[in-house]
Amino acid sequence: MRKALLIVAIAATVSGCAGPGTDDADVRAVAEPDKLQQTLYYGGDIITMEGVQQEYVEAVVQREGKIVFVGSREEALATYKGKADEVDLQGKTMLPGFIDPHGHFMSAVQMVNQVNVAAPPVGTSTDIRAIIEKLKGYQQEKSIPAGEWIVGWGYDQDLLEEGRHITKLDLDPHFPDHKVMLIHVSMHGAVLNSRALEWAEIDSSTETPPGGIINRLPGGSEPAGLLMETAYIPVFENLPQPSEEEMLELMKPAQMMYAAEGYTHAYEGFTHLENLDFLMKAAEEGAIFIDISALPAFTETQEWMDNPRYVFGEYHDGLKLQGIKFTQDGSPQGKTAHVATPYLTGGPGGEEDWTGETTQPKEDFIQQVKAALDAGLQVQIHANGDATIDQAIEAVERAGITAADDRRTLVIHSQFQRPDQLDKYVELGKSQTYFTNHCYFWGYVHIKNIVIEKAEFISPVKAAKDKGLVYSNHTDFNVTPLDPFFVIWTAMARESRSGEVIGPDQRVDAYTALQGLTTGPAWQLFEEDRKGKIKEGLLADFVILSENPLETGVDGIRDIEVLETVKQGTTIYKAQ
Ligand SMILES: [Zn+2]
Repeated sequence: MRKALLIVAIAATVSGCAGPGTDDADVRAVAEPDKLQQTLYYGGDIITMEGVQQEYVEAVVQREGKIVFVGSREEALATYKGKADEVDLQGKTMLPGFIDPHGHFMSAVQMVNQVNVAAPPVGTSTDIRAIIEKLKGYQQEKSIPAGEWIVGWGYDQDLLEEGRHITKLDLDPHFPDHKVMLIHVSMHGAVLNSRALEWAEIDSSTETPPGGIINRLPGGSEPAGLLMETAYIPVFENLPQPSEEEMLELMKPAQMMYAAEGYTHAYEGFTHLENLDFLMKAAEEGAIFIDISALPAFTETQEWMDNPRYVFGEYHDGLKLQGIKFTQDGSPQGKTAHVATPYLTGGPGGEEDWTGETTQPKEDFIQQVKAALDAGLQVQIHANGDATIDQAIEAVERAGITAADDRRTLVIHSQFQRPDQLDKYVELGKSQTYFTNHCYFWGYVHIKNIVIEKAEFISPVKAAKDKGLVYSNHTDFNVTPLDPFFVIWTAMARESRSGEVIGPDQRVDAYTALQGLTTGPAWQLFEEDRKGKIKEGLLADFVILSENPLETGVDGIRDIEVLETVKQGTTIYKAQ
C-alpha cells in the first residue's frame, strides 16, 4: 500500500461544510474583494467529467470553496492574475474529488482498535496459525487484559490454506481468558471463541433465529463459532464501544484515511442510531471536514422516522442524512445472498438446494419500503442475489413509483442481477451502486458456487451503461480496501485474484470507470449540481494524481498515486 506517504495535517484547520476559513474570509470580502481565498490551477491534465466522453480544460479557478471559472489559461490569467494563488500542476492530473458511493465510515473509526486478519493483498494471513499469531501479537502489543475483547477484521475462510471456517476449538487453547471475535470479510458474520459465545449467551440450547446461521460442531448442537446474519446482528450491536471522547479523537484519522485516497465524500452505509447521534455531535463540534452521508438503519425506524431531530436531505456541518438503508440479503461469497437458482455447492452449513434467504419476509420488506417512500425518504436497498433484486423491484413497483417520480431508489451491490432486471431499473427510475472489486476478491469463488452465466454477469457495468442507467462503483469499505484505483482497475480488468477474467464483455474503459466514482455517485446523492464534476458553480473538491488514468492503460492504473486532495478549496491531504 502507498501509506508510506506522509500526511500533511492541514485537515485540522478545516471546519465543516460551511467551507474552509469562511468566517475570516467574510470579513475580508467586504474590505478587500481581491483578497478572497482564490486558487488558479493550470499546467496539467484537468479532466472535467462533464461530458459523455473525456473533456479537458486548461485552467480552473476556485473562490471560497466553489468553482468560479473553468476554461482557457489565457482567459483565467486575464481575470485572476495577481488575485488568486497560482498552482502549476506540472503535468499532473486533476479530477473532481472522488465520492465513495457505498461504504461504512464508522468502520474507519472502529478499525483503529482492531486487528487486520485479512489475506493478501489486504493483509498477510494465509492460514489459521497466522491469524492466531496476529491476534496474540496484538493482545501483547496493546496489553489487552484478560476478560477483554480482541477483534479481528477481514477474516475470510475461503482464502485460508485449510479451506474451512475457524472454530472456537482453534481459538480457545490460545485465548482461554479473552473474548475473541473474527469479523467475516462480508461484515455479515463472525467467528467467536468460547468466552465470546458465553458473553453472547449462545450455547447448545440456542435456536438458530430465522434468517440466521449458527454453525454447530459435528454430531451435536454445540455452537462451533461462526454466526451469520440475524444470529450475528445482535452480537455486533451489543459490542462495547469506545467513549464518545475517544471516538471524537478518531474522527480525524478516520477521515484522513479517505482524504489520502482522494475521497472528499464518504458514506456511512448502515447507520445505527447510536452512531448517527455521534456523527451529529461530531458535526456540531466541527470535527467533520469531508462530506459524510449517513443511511439510518431499517431496524430502528421507530426511533428516527418522523422524529424532528433527524432531518434528511440537507447538510449540517458536513453531515447529511441521505435516506434509509434496508439490508435484504447477505453476501454471495458467504452464500447468504438470496438467488433464484440454487448455489452449485450447497449452503454455508452444507444445506442442499440452497438459495440463501432474505433478511425479512418479502411482504414485511415490501410494506416497509412503501412506508419509507411514502415518508419521502430516499430508499437504498442492499440486495446481492437476483431473487432479492426481484423483491427490491417489486417493492418500488407496488409503491407506485416510476422513473418520472425521480426517487433514485438505489440497489446497493446489485451484483447478481439478470439482464431483464436492468430494464426494470430503467422503468422504475432505480439506480445501482456496483461492486466490481468482487471480481478480484471472490470472482473465483462465485464461478464455483454460481451458474456461470450469472457469475460472469456480476456487477454488469457495461450492460447498465448501455441501458442508460446511472451507476456507481464502491469498495464497501472495510469489506475491500479504500483504494479508488483498485475500483477503477477492477471495473476495467474484471480479473480474479486467481487470474481469470470474470465476464470479459462487461469490462469498461477508464472514463466509464471514473464516472462510477464521480458523476454517478453525485447523481445518486441528488448532488449532481454540487459535486462530481469540475464545472462552474460546483464545490471546489479536487484530487490531483501522479498520472492520468485515461492514459496509463489498464496495467498502470493501480500505480497511480494521490498527490493532493482538496475539499472546498482547502488542501486536506498532500503527499510528500
Ligand atoms: Zn455495505
